[in-house]
Amino acid sequence: AKMNRRGGYEYFTRSMGVEIRERVLLMHALRAAFEHEKLFLVFQPQIDMRDGRVTGAEALLRWKTDDGRFIPPDQFIPIAEYSGLIVDIGEWVLRTACFELVHLRSLGYTDFQMAINVSQVQFSHPLFMQSLNKALEDTKVPPHFVELEITESMAMKDPELLIKTLQQIKQLGMSVSIDDFGTGFSSLSHLQKLDVDKLKIDRAFVNEIQKNSSEGSIAKMIVQLGQNLGLSIIAEGVESEMQANTLLSYDCHIAQGYLYSKPLTRDDLHAWLATR
Ligand code: C2E
Ligand code: CA
Ligand code: CA
Ligand code: CA
Repeated sequence: AKMNRRGGYEYFTRSMGVEIRERVLLMHALRAAFEHEKLFLVFQPQIDMRDGRVTGAEALLRWKTDDGRFIPPDQFIPIAEYSGLIVDIGEWVLRTACFELVHLRSLGYTDFQMAINVSQVQFSHPLFMQSLNKALEDTKVPPHFVELEITESMAMKDPELLIKTLQQIKQLGMSVSIDDFGTGFSSLSHLQKLDVDKLKIDRAFVNEIQKNSSEGSIAKMIVQLGQNLGLSIIAEGVESEMQANTLLSYDCHIAQGYLYSKPLTRDDLHAWLATR
């Protein structure tokens, strides 16, 4: 009788239970994968569309399970954040990307920026600045070739902490970009207060660029906003020549996307760079 009356409710909790169980399983699998060094980085080149020069790359995390499946970061990063694992994983990402940058520099790519994603959870951790310092010390990478990507939503969580941390990052000599710009809802007055260097136009707005719609597109507005604030601009998710040309006509020169290259393993990146 009870089940009859609250059937809907029980169904709801049972399906929720499955979800939570799956998440916990994934979390354990992720922790094991991380401990057994099964996570790795790929690098997606960033290009100056005016002359094809490679300006750097973004480091992106990959997880390949033992049975050969790839679990997309969009799925496991939230779990890593939720469980706190992202603090250790993020530190590993930072160090590994810095070591790769040092390696690239030793191969002669001395004008190469490495962009590294930093999660909100990692960023607001009390030991974050310490881990940045340590990564710089251990890798001896020149800090101005390292760029941290933070998201717009971070700007709203704890503005005081954000402003303070950004100042400290600047003192270290690293640069900061706002990732997925335009998808969050940070206010412009807020943005003005933040000491960042670059806006990264989200893929969604690049995707929106169609023929004959160059007027009034959000991508164009972001470029203008960046120019007014004295910030650099990069477009992500550029897939077609038409998008590239339209972005160039907006005065956005730097891009990342499948048109130029997918994210590449370390070896593939070296091979790719060597052919350019
Ligand atoms: P994101 O930072 O916005 O990274 C860009 C995503 O767009 C990457 O997906 C990249 O592979 C994909 N992409 C690049 N060019 C194109 C294109 O031309 N077309 C299409 N359709 N997609 C393109 P990915 O590697 O699956 O990463 C997804 C998200 O996971 C990232 O989005 C980022 O938020 C997060 N992530 C990845 N690595 C890390 C990491 O090391 N730390 C943290 N905190 N987050 C990470
Ligand atoms: Ca990013
Ligand atoms: Ca992005
Ligand atoms: Ca994105």
